[in-house]
Amino acid sequence: MTDPAVPWSMKCQECGADLGGLDKKAASICLRVMGDEETRTYFLCTSCDMYSIWVYIEEFFTDKENFFCSGPISRGEGDKAVQMIRTCPAPDMISCKCAAHREMEGWTV
Ligand SMILES: [Zn+2]
Ligand SMILES: [Zn+2]
Repeated sequence: MTDPAVPWSMKCQECGADLGGLDKKAASICLRVMGDEETRTYFLCTSCDMYSIWVYIEEFFTDKENFFCSGPISRGEGDKAVQMIRTCPAPDMISCKCAAHREMEGWTV
């Protein structure tokens, strides 16, 4: 994850509203995608009712960090992801093999 000491806030990818920092997230999950460690954090915008996703990637071979914003995605699509993450007993654990982890590793953002 990013250094929590650095002030950071998410911007809505639909309307540009300030969605706050990581403490304002709807949910997040840490996945292994094509060998890399990928953390996807979902934010819901209350102004336009769309989700934006903050994606943080740690490359396995190079140890390089990479991050970008993705979205917007619809309220329905985002709610589905958030609900799925809530079924996971350990969303921060990349080694988790629950149904949510297995399913979401196949999703592209
Ligand atoms: Zn918005
Ligand atoms: Zn899991």
